[in-house]
Amino acid sequence: MNGRRLRYLITGGAGFIGSHLAEQLADSGCGVTVLDKRIPEAEPDPRVDWLEGDILDESLVGRLVERHDGVFHLAALLGVRRTMAEPAAMVENNLLGTLHVLRAARREGKKVVFASTSEAYGKAEPPFREDMDLLFGPTQKLRWSYAIGKTLEEVLCLGYARKGLPVTVIRYFNVYGPRQKTGAYGGVVAKFILAALRGDDITVYGDGSQTRCFTYVRDAAEGTISAMKREADGQVVNIGSRTEISIRELAEAVKRLTGSSSPIVTVPYGEVFPPGFEEVPRRVPDMAKAESLLGFRPRIPLEAGLGETIAWFRERPRRGSGRL
Ligand code: UDP
Repeated sequence: MNGRRLRYLITGGAGFIGSHLAEQLADSGCGVTVLDKRIPEAEPDPRVDWLEGDILDESLVGRLVERHDGVFHLAALLGVRRTMAEPAAMVENNLLGTLHVLRAARREGKKVVFASTSEAYGKAEPPFREDMDLLFGPTQKLRWSYAIGKTLEEVLCLGYARKGLPVTVIRYFNVYGPRQKTGAYGGVVAKFILAALRGDDITVYGDGSQTRCFTYVRDAAEGTISAMKREADGQVVNIGSRTEISIRELAEAVKRLTGSSSPIVTVPYGEVFPPGFEEVPRRVPDMAKAESLLGFRPRIPLEAGLGETIAWFRERPRRGSGRL
């Protein structure tokens, strides 16, 4: 655009993936505004404009979209466990927020990258290709409500694409790295690292044979940025890695890399999830489309990414856990 500095809006940009995205966009010389319900007080990146606000505020979203060249829409209530606890809040908040972003972007002719999830494949047979059939359980089983809610938002995005909006849906596969959330709704890598560093039990759910393809957050952010390109308009694309590892192997890797003496213990699903929980036994992306359409290839091998994440968690007590 005639050498003008591009400016991007990131909704949910104070979160785990969003904050890395903000930094990486700022590194590449772009202007960045983050809209998030909660901006951490401690040391947010000074190159970024931080704005506390809600995607449910449609006029605010409209004013912000107008002032930017594109939107990365990451703000959402997310995760299977959280959605099982608050399904109505999840659908209402996410769907309305996404609607506000899409309406404003269509009005202003701005591109949107919408953050969806590999959970959208449900219990389909891997490897997961973007054009394959999705497979969920019944709506009365809240275990599937996150996947169903997110796919509904995908449909909304693709509906707006048919009306001429440039929008790309990306599906993240188990993103991990520095600043990943711990706690009840946290991801397994962060939970295992924290447990290992504290000398607590490393809790493997089920028999640990379930597998995931973990994606380092800087790779995920790079893939997200590449989805802004116009060639990806109207498309759904996986953002993941090809390295498949079982959760038991992950626990062993974290224990070895931290030098921890924490015991690795198995916990039956029934002790951590409400009745009716169903595990996705393998979650593996087909990465051909991301490679050919976006030119995206993850670069950080799992051991290196785990090493960086462990280093960050070791430093965390000195920084205060909320810092970006
Ligand atoms: N998991 C585990 N122990 C934990 C947290 C998670 O064994 O303390 C397992 C979980 O059952 C799943 C995998 O790790 O098989 C990944 O879990 P996460 O919640 O990070 O993401 P998911 O792939 O389930 O969305």
